[in-house]
Amino acid sequence: MKAAIFRGPRDVEVGTRPDPVIQAPTDAIVRVALACVCGSDLWYYRGESPHAVGSIGHEFIGVVEETGSQVDGVAVGDLVVAPFIYSCMSCPHCLNGSTISCVQGGNFGNGTIDGGQGEAVRVPLAGGTLVPVPGSGHSDDMLRSLLALSDVMSTGHHAAVSAGVGKGDTVAVVGDGAVGLSAVLAAHRLGAERIIALSRQPRRQELAREFGATDVVEARGDAATATVLALTGGVGVDAALECVGTAQSIETAFSIARPGSTVGIVGVPHGEVPFARTFFRNVGWRGGPAPARIYIPDLMADVLAGTINPGRVFDHETDLDHIGEAYAAMDERRSVKSLVRVSSL
Ligand SMILES: [Zn+2]
Ligand SMILES: [Zn+2]
Repeated sequence: MKAAIFRGPRDVEVGTRPDPVIQAPTDAIVRVALACVCGSDLWYYRGESPHAVGSIGHEFIGVVEETGSQVDGVAVGDLVVAPFIYSCMSCPHCLNGSTISCVQGGNFGNGTIDGGQGEAVRVPLAGGTLVPVPGSGHSDDMLRSLLALSDVMSTGHHAAVSAGVGKGDTVAVVGDGAVGLSAVLAAHRLGAERIIALSRQPRRQELAREFGATDVVEARGDAATATVLALTGGVGVDAALECVGTAQSIETAFSIARPGSTVGIVGVPHGEVPFARTFFRNVGWRGGPAPARIYIPDLMADVLAGTINPGRVFDHETDLDHIGEAYAAMDERRSVKSLVRVSSL
């Protein structure tokens, strides 16, 4: 089959991998319809994090083509959303909602295990992992929004849930990438009244407003903090959502969080939490990699009802033959998020 192959930094191209086959009775084979490139794939692309040569990509939707003898819950022909990791949904961590820590779980597209950026994927623990999509004849817009549940929308939602966003809250979202924009949408969905998006790019600001942002702050660093504090009467926000992970964005998130609040963190940290300073303001933090598998059913219901449309984050499209361009567009910030159209349903 055709699949994206990571060969090294700035070298992701289409190549061939063996057609996946059922290896364990809990496996399923999924024919990929839509896939996409993740912000975290860019770390590998830029050489900032190591990645094995081979398969890559962990966000995809597709149709179940074959199931092992012990797969319950999904059947051949089902349209399914794959969370960005696979998990069993029966171990103590999965049962506690921490699918990311599944004792049997693992990563798609790690060089060896099939990646989402390919024609087909062998999905381990398929009954626990895959979420079937009810109904048929979904529009392309809806399919794009279902794809966003695989990672970015679930991750943005995790930031909002971790920070305890609730009705009437004032929320600030630090980061205007696909996850930050999804966090705006998630905060809006959870009833936040005022949502301050920190963004400098007109196109991203526009999408943030479409997703529910009421205010846009273009400043960065200390100036951003001063602006957000001014907007909130000097109090700070009820919930700060950190969706970048740089030292500066972490600093900003903690400095705009009001005393007694919780910062939601989903940006993979490249900085430190200012521990002593947050202690004296009773500011906490929660977050980490999203348990997407736990969130997908509720978010999917809203996508299917047409009340959220997270697929709007995809503003660039290629096919597998042009996968290198999908990466380059995001790397050069020409695109918020690249969609890869693999096959039609
Ligand atoms: Zn991802
Ligand atoms: Zn598990």
